[in-house]
Amino acid sequence: MPRRALRPPLPELGPDLDALAATIRACRICRERPLTTPLPHEPRPVFRVSDTATICIASQAPGTRVHASGTPFTDPSGDRLRAWMAVDSTTFYDGSRIAIIPMGFCFPGLDRHGGDLPPRRECAPAWRAPLFAALPNLRLLLAVGSYAHAWHLGPMARKSLTETVAAWREIAAATRDPLIIPFPHPSWRNNGWLRKNPWFEADLLPFARAAIARELAPAEPIQKIIPATALD
Ligand code: SF4
Repeated sequence: MPRRALRPPLPELGPDLDALAATIRACRICRERPLTTPLPHEPRPVFRVSDTATICIASQAPGTRVHASGTPFTDPSGDRLRAWMAVDSTTFYDGSRIAIIPMGFCFPGLDRHGGDLPPRRECAPAWRAPLFAALPNLRLLLAVGSYAHAWHLGPMARKSLTETVAAWREIAAATRDPLIIPFPHPSWRNNGWLRKNPWFEADLLPFARAAIARELAPAEPIQKIIPATALD
């Protein structure tokens, strides 16, 4: 049986990022046409995009705090991610430079143990391709967590998150515009992973910070040679 179309057709939107973002903000797929159990609350898509951003954080999905605030990474995971990236909050939330695009835009709800459910399966197939097609300037993508690894790396993703992050040198060498760097999720739940894999902070983070700093550095002014006669 053919899968039902999840997303309304978008021919009228073309490459207009603002129109596409507005359409996503009004999305109700997970309430009205869910693949499984409907989203247990009203949708509140949380993401940041601009057609000038050169860095993209491809993250997982909002948690309870981000669902309440409507702003990405307003939680301890955000504090850790900013520390990993070596950027302050002002830079992190400068949407003209950094896009933040989770694999599921809405908080998916909690499982019976109180943990966050995975990103909604409806979201990435519905919105990711048109959204990334409308972001022409991305040069660096931080793929945060296994869902983003699977989507953005495809066959380059390894069997486990650890293997994928450990392969960061090969992945970085094989990707360009955007250069992709795999990260684990910055959640406190990964404290044990970070202790077991000290190479992440010792080796990968300096590389990632240098790549981020390169993208955030102001462009060199174009030196114009003005003939002396033009100044007379
Ligand atoms: S998670 Fe994505 S597909 Fe589901 S309602 Fe929110 S924006 Fe729409």
